[in-house]
Amino acid sequence: MGQRTRILIAALLGFLAGACGREETQPARNVVLIVVDTLRADQTSLHGYARDTTPFLAEWAQRDGQVFERALSTAPWTKPSIASMLSGLMPQQHQLTLHMQKLPSDGPNVAEAFRSRGFQTAAIQSNHLLAHEFGYNRGFDAYVDGVDTTLATHDRSTGPAVNAAAFAWLDARDRSKPFFLYVHHYEPHHNYLRDGSSWFPGYRGPLTGAESMDELYGLVSKMSPDDIEFLRARYDAEIRYQDDLLRELVAGLRERGLLEDTAVVLTSDHGEEFAEHGDLSHQYKLYEELVHVPLLVVRPGERRRGARIAGVVSLVDLPRTLLDLCGQYAARFPGRSLVGLLEGIAEEPRACGGHASTIPPGTNALYEREMFVDGRWKLVLNRKPGTRELYDLVVDPREQSDLSTAQPDQLERMQRGFEAWKVAAEAGRLGALPANIQLTPELEERMRKLGYLGG
Ligand SMILES: [Zn+2]
Repeated sequence: MGQRTRILIAALLGFLAGACGREETQPARNVVLIVVDTLRADQTSLHGYARDTTPFLAEWAQRDGQVFERALSTAPWTKPSIASMLSGLMPQQHQLTLHMQKLPSDGPNVAEAFRSRGFQTAAIQSNHLLAHEFGYNRGFDAYVDGVDTTLATHDRSTGPAVNAAAFAWLDARDRSKPFFLYVHHYEPHHNYLRDGSSWFPGYRGPLTGAESMDELYGLVSKMSPDDIEFLRARYDAEIRYQDDLLRELVAGLRERGLLEDTAVVLTSDHGEEFAEHGDLSHQYKLYEELVHVPLLVVRPGERRRGARIAGVVSLVDLPRTLLDLCGQYAARFPGRSLVGLLEGIAEEPRACGGHASTIPPGTNALYEREMFVDGRWKLVLNRKPGTRELYDLVVDPREQSDLSTAQPDQLERMQRGFEAWKVAAEAGRLGALPANIQLTPELEERMRKLGYLGG
């Protein structure tokens, strides 16, 4: 079905809905984007996890918002994923895939798009990978990335300072203008600072919770199931703490009267692995624990409160959606708006891509993976050594059974779909590779301590 046909059908459905008495939710004046770093969807109570890690998010979504059940990030680590959320471009298009690279200074940028439409723009940033040195401040009037300048090893919580900085900016803003505010929280990212023993009592193994990610990488192949569950429980305790901080942030928005005219979008840049595929942390692979993230949208005057949207969507569509939520219809901005789905309009499902390219710790080898998700099927392409994996996500949601040999016809169908998708993606690739920055010794040390940069 062509784009024009889809628009006509959407218009017809909109007319019929109007004739049946359904009205659309009105656009918001402002929008707040909340990104919780490293939050895998399936370990939140928002997505039915057995441990009640996000009681606030679950209750808030049910009461006021809508949840996308199958939102996928474009990459399994911060820099490329956030670059997609700001540009509407896939990693294969913006090409920001390595640590030293800066956000491209050309091409689409959602903060610039808001600013050019008369919005104030601000970001409160707690992840040093997104420091202004890396160009992520592009388009923002205010870019507060010194929320806690000792965040180097994440050896303390930055969340209270993030909320305080967000409130300070909101209180000082020019109230005559609408705003786009991006708040980046960091609690679930390793180090897992919190005690998880209430969820996993009686652990007697060798881990203390104080290990660096480099140490954990070295130990993972020898870990027992109890060791893994000990780490998972600590991660869950971080999510539970994050949920309290989100409750505080939203309460602050409500106290300021902002929820009357402000849309709030909450998501994550990627998930976290607990040995589902032999590793810990994130960054290298594209399995569901690393790319399936929450996506919650709360709109003022929402008419479909508590709805759950079933199909697969990609966070590459987030920037256009943010603009659309404020009625800033940007036909030339890449991606598609998810607002039609929020309005309950049935849309043809679309396939989603993903990309991982980096240098694993302890090696100097660059490797690249790509994924292609079409409905229930997922293709993973490992560029080096050149292998393919195929998963049926309905039968095998944890991707434990590679069907690439058993289902060759399905594998080739997915390969053809991927190649067509890639041709379209490459047509939208930015002309130049992102510039590299010269890392200062301090910035380099910060990254190394977090387990980035390799050996
Ligand atoms: Zn991240």
